[in-house]
Amino acid sequence: MATKVKSEGKCRLCGKKFSKGAMANHLRSCREKSTAKWDTKTQRKTRTFHIVVEGSPYHWLHVEASAEVTLADLDNLLRRIWLECCGHCSDFEIEGTRYSGASDMGWSEFDDESMDKRLGNVLRKGMKFRHTYDYGTTTECQLRVVSEGAAPVKKRSVQILARNEPLDIPCIECDKPARHVCTECMWDGEGWLCDDCLDKHECGDEMALPAVNSPRAGMCAYTGGDEDEEF
Ligand SMILES: [Zn+2]
Ligand SMILES: [Zn+2]
Ligand SMILES: [Zn+2]
Ligand SMILES: [Zn+2]
Repeated sequence: MATKVKSEGKCRLCGKKFSKGAMANHLRSCREKSTAKWDTKTQRKTRTFHIVVEGSPYHWLHVEASAEVTLADLDNLLRRIWLECCGHCSDFEIEGTRYSGASDMGWSEFDDESMDKRLGNVLRKGMKFRHTYDYGTTTECQLRVVSEGAAPVKKRSVQILARNEPLDIPCIECDKPARHVCTECMWDGEGWLCDDCLDKHECGDEMALPAVNSPRAGMCAYTGGDEDEEF
C-alpha cells in the first residue's frame, strides 16, 4: 500500500474528522464535554476502558468498553467489523497469558485461558496487548488501554468511538480509486485495482477480493464486515 495514504477518522461523539495522531487527544476532551452534560441523579455511571486497536498503520479503532465486557465480546466485535471470513481461531495475548476461543471449545493444545474473562479483571490503564485472528493467513491487531473512566453506558457495552474512514487507495494502473485487491499481487503491494483495470488484469478476476475498509482486505476469503457496529 502506498505510504502516502491518509488515515483519518470521524469522532462518533461530535461527528468531526481528525487525523489518526490527533484522535486520542480529541476523544479525551470530547468525552469530558459529553460527560459534563450527564444527569448524575438519573444516569448511573459504569467503569469503562478506552482502548485503541490498530490492525495496520492505516486501520484503527477507538473503542469504549465497560469493565463487565469479556474478552470474547471484544473478539466478537473485532470479528464483526474487521476480521471474520470463515470462522478461524483467535486469541488475545495479555502479559504473557493467552486467552483463546480454542480453549473455550476444549481444542487448545496450549495452556490457554478462556476468553470469558472480564476486561475489568485483566486490563489496566497503559497496558498493551495483542489479538491474533487465523493462524494460517494471520491478521494481528495491537491494542492499548488509553485510559480508564466512567460513562453512563449499559453495564455490559462496547461501542466504537472512532474508526478510520475508508482509505483512498489508488489503482496501481491508473490512479483511480481501487475497488478490488488481487490476492496474488497484493503481497508485493501491487494488487490494488479499479473496476476497469481489474478486467484487464493478468491474474483474472477470480483472484480478486473487494478492497474493503479492514486490515484483512485481500486475505483468505474476506469480503467485508458489518456496517452496524453497535454491540
Ligand atoms: Zn468529538
Ligand atoms: Zn478465512
Ligand atoms: Zn485502474
Ligand atoms: Zn494479480
